[in-house]
Amino acid sequence: MQRQAIAWRKAGRRVVLVPTMGALHDGHRRLINMARKKVKTNGIVVVSIYVNPKQFNDPKDLKDYPRTLSADKKLCREESVDMVFAPNTLYEKDVSAGVKEDDLTTRLEGLHRPGHFAGVMTVVAKLFNLVLPDFSVFGEKDFQQVTVIKRMVRDLDYPISILVGPTVREADGLAMSSRNVLLTGDLRDQATVLSRAIELSRQSLGSRAVDIKRKLKRFIEKQPDAQVDYIEFVDTINLNPLKTVKKGSRILLAAKIGPVRLIDNGLL
Ligand code: AMP
Repeated sequence: MQRQAIAWRKAGRRVVLVPTMGALHDGHRRLINMARKKVKTNGIVVVSIYVNPKQFNDPKDLKDYPRTLSADKKLCREESVDMVFAPNTLYEKDVSAGVKEDDLTTRLEGLHRPGHFAGVMTVVAKLFNLVLPDFSVFGEKDFQQVTVIKRMVRDLDYPISILVGPTVREADGLAMSSRNVLLTGDLRDQATVLSRAIELSRQSLGSRAVDIKRKLKRFIEKQPDAQVDYIEFVDTINLNPLKTVKKGSRILLAAKIGPVRLIDNGLL
């Protein structure tokens, strides 16, 4: 991969990387379209597909994660992706170096999924070093992840521009996610409660965050199989929790719907 990337650079081709874990859906498709738009037809769009074991804190989640490589390759062909990079593994057996961050990753997902962001940052750093992209595209769906990656790029001086694609949703509001296929039976319907909670929070501008968080938790947990991990209102730069629900802030939330853990977020 790196030899190819060096050849592209020598030929003056601009390269854009879309990192994914596969089981591609229209959210990923949107990022791929953004990538192509950025580098036009002469540029190179690389989609990486790798279910990164280091970012899974729960072995069952890793085992159950959907894997659909041939369908993924078909989607990439439809979108004229130049290269699908789908390595079997990216780590030596005795790997002992990695990337960490000590502020943004200590909150929200970082608290609930120990080691998750170190795993994400390490694999993204490795992909950057292998693909040598000029641009890389991430989805707003994983808002904290985008914030962490931007911080890594800033603090470690990666010469890469980060592009962010909006969250793509199903018609009923559920944010698209590879894990949605695991929502069996009526769990699929129950899962719409997350986006409905975000909508509800938009009616609460000016209120105290603690009150609205309590109200939204009750609202979500009215669903028989829903259990909230966290609901937080944060500033969009540093993800610091806010005391008041304000316009321009962001709501981030995570909940389990039956056995499936989902996250969502929205701008207020
Ligand atoms: P994943 O394969 O879930 O690790 O996601 C790969 C990339 O796609 C990440 O940058 C995600 O934020 C992004 N992504 C996942 N779901 C969506 C969605 N519904 N809308 C936009 N981007 C998404």
